[in-house]
Amino acid sequence: MNNSPLCSQITLHVPPLMWEQFRHALQEAQAKNQEVIGFLFCKHHQISDQAVRYWPQAWVVPTVDCYESQSVNGLVLDQQFHLYLLETYLEEGLDMVHIHTHPGQEFPIFSTIDDCYESQYAKFLANRFNHQLHLISGIFDETFQKFQFRLWNQTGTAFQPVNFHPSWFALAASESSTVQETDPIFARQQIFGTTLQNQLSDLSVTLIGCGGIGAAFAELLGRLGVRRWTFIDPDHLEASNLNRMPGATWNMAEQHLPKVEYVKQLIENIYPTDSEITTIPTAIENIEASADCAASDLIVVATDNHHSRQVAQELALASIRPLIALGTHIEIKPDGLPRMFCRVTVPPLGGDWCLMCGNIINLQQAALESASPEIGNLATQAGYLKSVPDPAVFWLNSICASTGVGILQGMLSGFLSINAGLDWIYEFPESKWHKTDPDALTTSSCYFCGLGD
Ligand SMILES: [Zn+2]
Ligand SMILES: [Zn+2]
Repeated sequence: MNNSPLCSQITLHVPPLMWEQFRHALQEAQAKNQEVIGFLFCKHHQISDQAVRYWPQAWVVPTVDCYESQSVNGLVLDQQFHLYLLETYLEEGLDMVHIHTHPGQEFPIFSTIDDCYESQYAKFLANRFNHQLHLISGIFDETFQKFQFRLWNQTGTAFQPVNFHPSWFALAASESSTVQETDPIFARQQIFGTTLQNQLSDLSVTLIGCGGIGAAFAELLGRLGVRRWTFIDPDHLEASNLNRMPGATWNMAEQHLPKVEYVKQLIENIYPTDSEITTIPTAIENIEASADCAASDLIVVATDNHHSRQVAQELALASIRPLIALGTHIEIKPDGLPRMFCRVTVPPLGGDWCLMCGNIINLQQAALESASPEIGNLATQAGYLKSVPDPAVFWLNSICASTGVGILQGMLSGFLSINAGLDWIYEFPESKWHKTDPDALTTSSCYFCGLGD
């Protein structure tokens, strides 16, 4: 029995698409009953000594026939159904989030009946399962606007508050803001509000790939207000980078400055004293980066090969972090005219579709790139892998990076509703944005992003 003091900062982060589906099911059940309940089954992850994050793997909203009795004094689940929940989800090692509604539109307060029932239930779960299993409970008003969440200890004797975020980003409430309202840097973007500015100031970003697109992205997002970064890239600056890396100098290229150090300087130019930057001068495929990724609020991948993008997507899925993938492509048609593309892809948080099942990256290509050098050489000779670097220009990279930053601003502010994900492709010189219909990308059985049981 674990009676130790609980950790101080607990977050329940529910992907927006899942929350939409779950809430919709609750509302349908609500049409039949006054009070309804639903369950989320979660994994949890210790982010730091002080912080734990819970995120759901599955949700269940019982239908009318799953109850033994329903009254204002409480809901009693059918024994068989209850057993099914325990066997299906809790024996897998998932934690339980129990959610119910209270009638009315007041701020919901846990009742003494709730206290009593939940305390017993937390104790029951801890006794029933040998592993460390936690109970979180939540209540909503009938409109699902106001809520309260709490985490029980395993003896059912105490609980502590849980921060609930049904959104892309689980950023803490912006009371402890670091941005001064009078900060002259942001005078010209005050129109977007202090909430956004504080969110940007708190947001931590892992950028995988600090080349032409990644560096432009860091420069643009840094200027918007992001100062907490992890940069991952194995390469060094060379003269051939000078056509597209903002602020890069001949001196840096001659010194073969690591790209992560160069991008770090871009951020330090803006925030000389209060940036928080980690540099990892290694390829994402070669490092155990999951801890860094899970601890940051956003993963951005801007590498030039399929395998690293696959690894980034897998990391994002494993740690339920939002992922923004940026890429450009230039080709010369047989008639000698260029065609240029840039692509920004944001797969939905927590699955539904991903870079792999959405065919945003090519798995065969990714497999060849990660193969042994001998196989890689054969594949290059046979023309399956390119032997010359892709063409790239600063202005096209900038359209891509700028659009990615704009999308992120929209996700943070909520003016861009992309719960089902986003895949935009810009085509030049036609000057057209193609928007892939996310419904067409949804798959039920992806090896990578399918939830599975
Ligand atoms: Zn209640
Ligand atoms: Zn997928």
